[in-house]
Amino acid sequence: MDPNKLNHGEAADAPKLIKTRPRPAAARPQVRPKAEGWTQLSGPDGRPTLQFASPRVKQPQTHLADMTLAEREAKVVELGLPAFRAKQLSKHYFEHYTSDPELMTDLPKDRRSELAEAFFPPLLTEVKRLVTDDGATVKFLWRLFDGALVESVLMRYPGRITLCVSSQCGCGMNCPFCATGQAGLTRNMSTAEILDQVVQANRVIAEGGLGRKREAGNGAEPERVNNIVFMGMGEPLANYKRVMNAVHRMIAPSPEGLGMSARGITVSTVGLAPAIRKLADEDIPITFALSLHAPDDELRDDLIPVNSRWKVEEVLDAAYGYYEKTGRRVSIEYALIKDMNDHPWRADLLAEKLNARGRGWVHVNPIPLNPTPGSIWTASTREVTREFVDRLNAAGVPTTLRDTRGKEIDGACGQLVATEQDKRDAAAYAAG
Ligand code: SF4
Repeated sequence: MDPNKLNHGEAADAPKLIKTRPRPAAARPQVRPKAEGWTQLSGPDGRPTLQFASPRVKQPQTHLADMTLAEREAKVVELGLPAFRAKQLSKHYFEHYTSDPELMTDLPKDRRSELAEAFFPPLLTEVKRLVTDDGATVKFLWRLFDGALVESVLMRYPGRITLCVSSQCGCGMNCPFCATGQAGLTRNMSTAEILDQVVQANRVIAEGGLGRKREAGNGAEPERVNNIVFMGMGEPLANYKRVMNAVHRMIAPSPEGLGMSARGITVSTVGLAPAIRKLADEDIPITFALSLHAPDDELRDDLIPVNSRWKVEEVLDAAYGYYEKTGRRVSIEYALIKDMNDHPWRADLLAEKLNARGRGWVHVNPIPLNPTPGSIWTASTREVTREFVDRLNAAGVPTTLRDTRGKEIDGACGQLVATEQDKRDAAAYAAG
């Protein structure tokens, strides 16, 4: 696609950059992650230690949601039952959000328990549920079959219900601001574990567990999750196959899957360039989000250690390639951190790098970091935030400040800084 055609009448090679007045260094210090004593683990080659492959540990027993409909039918036949039973089982799970054999009254009574055992091994056990924002945000802590803990966050917005899902137990990307990253990668989540977060959330919504419920009536469809962001624990593109299987199952019509719109699904990454290129080849109209957080390699090397493998230019090229292949506008996530990445010249540099690739292909979402009192991981001031957003918009890069709700806000990867609230939550989890 010719980027010049998307310029709303402006030439792609004429970015309107605001000249930055040089400021004395003392006026705007440059804070770095190591300022708080953080040191990057590195290997013998001096490069940051990153875990791309999951440790070879046991995965959960295969669940109905791990299988295609054809595989479910084959398994049902193997158990000596007609293939159509697979559709009934799938409907119970994907439409009625249940795996309780007692509720599957359309199945032969004497085979229900056996079928439930074969298709519905326990996946997520609720450990804790925290409700905030007047009931409009619900944060879940789940225990998996092997004791690993993951989170998902359910949020009601006007006109949509969003679920922020986890894709890995822990994470191997080692970002200094992220409690999950500091703990390392335990294992990849299975396709069914990823999907079960959505099914469980839908069950909670159906039971009235998400506040400010819409008035029923007028033949309106029952409410359910219609927007999914892969911004919880883990780097989704490091668990590529299972995440993509989950995405396929989310958009497959019932009884194969959840029958969601692909456009309501956002897959984010900190910048695994080869996987971004692979995602572009999938030809699914999902939204792609890049958690950039810095436009210059010098800072991004510190802030996002995977930048040591794929630099800003290569990652932006891959993101632009996604737009070129799919026609879908890319989101750039940018957590504004006081005196670290919020300098006006960085807004200008970001605009310059994005505009250099064309216009109309990208949207920037700065997010003020949740303030952590006494830490370097602190939100930018309101004035600095405003200037950052204004500079990008003035340069022709559509930029919208995101709201700071629940987990979704915590830096686009879901894990930016263990805030005081997070620490209290963690203590509550441990106690609970
Ligand atoms: S911010 Fe995201 S990619 Fe980085 S360590 Fe945390 S979960 Fe992983």
